Order: sequence, then C-alpha cells, then structure tokens
Amino acid sequence: MNCKKVILELTSYLDGVLDSTMRIDLEQHLSRCTDCRLVVDTTRKTIQIFCNSEPVPLPEDVRKRLHTALLERFRRNAKTT
Ligand SMILES: [Zn+2]
Repeated sequence: MNCKKVILELTSYLDGVLDSTMRIDLEQHLSRCTDCRLVVDTTRKTIQIFCNSEPVPLPEDVRKRLHTALLERFRRNAKTT
C-alpha cells in the first residue's frame, strides 16, 4: 500500500466498505505515514460535519468531488513521479 492507493481507497475506508485485507494494509500504512493520517483525519472530520455526525454514505457526486480534490492535492504534494 502506498500513499496514492490510500487516497484512492480513502472514501471506501471511511464508509466502512473496504474489505478487511485492504483495511489492514491501509491502517498499517497510516501508522507510519503522517501525511496520509492527516488526510484521513481531515476527510473524516469533513464527512462528519457534512453528514451531521450521522454514519450515512456520501452521495455519489460528493464522493467524486472529494476524491478528485484529494487526488489533486496528492499530485501537488507528490515529490516523486
Ligand atoms: Zn502515505
């Protein structure tokens, strides 16, 4: 699991729909990657605010926009190709 993969799977992870193998991989990555942990924390808070703390899935359009925004941010921050 690398940073890009984490970003790609992030919304599934936060929705709790990621399969357990992937989730463990992702959590292992989070335990040693501050950048991704920050992204996950920020995104989780954003979702909680957006959903009024209700554990409901994100609407598809919101999910896509969030995803795109995160990928853009990742690309800008990425030091390697
Ligand atoms: Zn990372």
